[in-house]
Amino acid sequence: MALYDQYPVEVFNSLGKKKEKFEPLNPPRVGLYVCGPTVYNEAHLGNLRSFLTFDIVWRYLEHLGYNVRYVRNITDVGHLVNDADEGEDKIEKRARLEQIEPMEIVQKYTNGFHAVNKVFNLKEPSIEPTATGHIMEQIEMVQKIIDNGYGYEVNGSVYFDVQKFQEKYDYGKLSGRKVEDLLEQTRDNLAGGSEKKFFADFAIWKAASENTLMKWKSPWGMGVPGWHLECSVMSTKYLGEQFDIHGGGMDLKFPHHECEIAQNIGAGGEDPVRYWMHGNMLTVNGTKMSKSLGNAFLPRELIAGDHKLLDRGYSPMTIRFFLLQAQYRSTVDFSNDALKAAEKGYKRLTNALRLVSKMEAVEAGTMNAELEKEINQLCDQLYIEMSDDFNTPKTIAVLFDLANKINSFADNHFPLSSIGVETFNRMKKTFITFMTEVLGLLDEAEDGSDKLDDVMQMLIEMRAEARANKNWDLSDEIRDKLNAVGIVLNDGKDGSEYQIK
Ligand code: ZN
Repeated sequence: MALYDQYPVEVFNSLGKKKEKFEPLNPPRVGLYVCGPTVYNEAHLGNLRSFLTFDIVWRYLEHLGYNVRYVRNITDVGHLVNDADEGEDKIEKRARLEQIEPMEIVQKYTNGFHAVNKVFNLKEPSIEPTATGHIMEQIEMVQKIIDNGYGYEVNGSVYFDVQKFQEKYDYGKLSGRKVEDLLEQTRDNLAGGSEKKFFADFAIWKAASENTLMKWKSPWGMGVPGWHLECSVMSTKYLGEQFDIHGGGMDLKFPHHECEIAQNIGAGGEDPVRYWMHGNMLTVNGTKMSKSLGNAFLPRELIAGDHKLLDRGYSPMTIRFFLLQAQYRSTVDFSNDALKAAEKGYKRLTNALRLVSKMEAVEAGTMNAELEKEINQLCDQLYIEMSDDFNTPKTIAVLFDLANKINSFADNHFPLSSIGVETFNRMKKTFITFMTEVLGLLDEAEDGSDKLDDVMQMLIEMRAEARANKNWDLSDEIRDKLNAVGIVLNDGKDGSEYQIK
């Protein structure tokens, strides 16, 4: 029996209204698509939280035995400044400001995004397709939408016909919006002389102007694919017309994801997604985090403590842990106190991780049946909480309970012989797995000592070489200087070993 049969995952259904058992189309394969960043500036904390959410989804599903294909795109063209089919491309605008090629902007911020992923221990996706790498496929989908009567061309741009779509389908079902209400909200935004037949129509192909830097030849003239279109195209290409999970930030629900659904159906495909997952927003001291309010910080500012609202900086794993203390559907509220508390909690867990990693099972002596039962229940509970719509805060609470048990073995409050070998091994394996594989929390202190090991190995080799060359001055100098910082070298038959005083 696979772990996913034993601990079936419950998530919200495609409209996010009812929690139900997660059933992939072709188990054990799972298709997961997440809207990636538009690479025109540094990834912000909201991005990080969103991608962390799906890192956890991926990690847990894989741990349960599913075989996940995780596709997360890079938007490198087509995302316009005001998100509403008007204005300049975000990347081009930046390129003009910095007076470099748009693709230099793309490369620079893609590199930066990957670096942030690495620092926070996010796994790289299975496929990371770019919009510019899929222009042909996007042109094909636009053509299909036109052929099916859901798209129309005006002056070299192609728009999606929402009214036509509305005759048979429900535009707005994901976000729960009614087209009539949208009219009220967008009336102010409707510029005079719009090419659109209907205010809610959206561009799937946009004619290029003479000044447009990135543009491609199409049946409708030189132009650029629409931002919403790229996700429909890339998800279909790599995951099929219908796939299991589509993720993104809450702000993408409308219009981006609503448009994706319409496009896929309009192109003759199916309702594309079985389960939509949207991560919630960030707040700072209870107020929405936003650039314009001056209370938004970048990941690197949070690490360095380089912001007027921060007392000091926090390590990447503390930040990762802090973000996981909220379930993805809830907001995360940043405050100095909450971050400090997270740091303490994270240290408590990594301390238990270090202790349990070094412990070995011993032959059972006088058994404590109650303790055995509690430990086994806690191990089960970790799965129950994660399987409940990826409830990381409750999972962390159970890890704390388990850490208490580990500590009580470490300080001999309970002898290890009071539980059976099987229970001990299960506790050890489950705790380590949930910390490192499922939640992706690395032991940073250990990380440091690994590096120290490398450096020490290098110095020991240098010293051995000096001794071989009878360079006693250098070999003594290395030993004495290490001694001065509290590291002792013990020379033995098989070389030297170091010891921290
Ligand atoms: Zn998208």
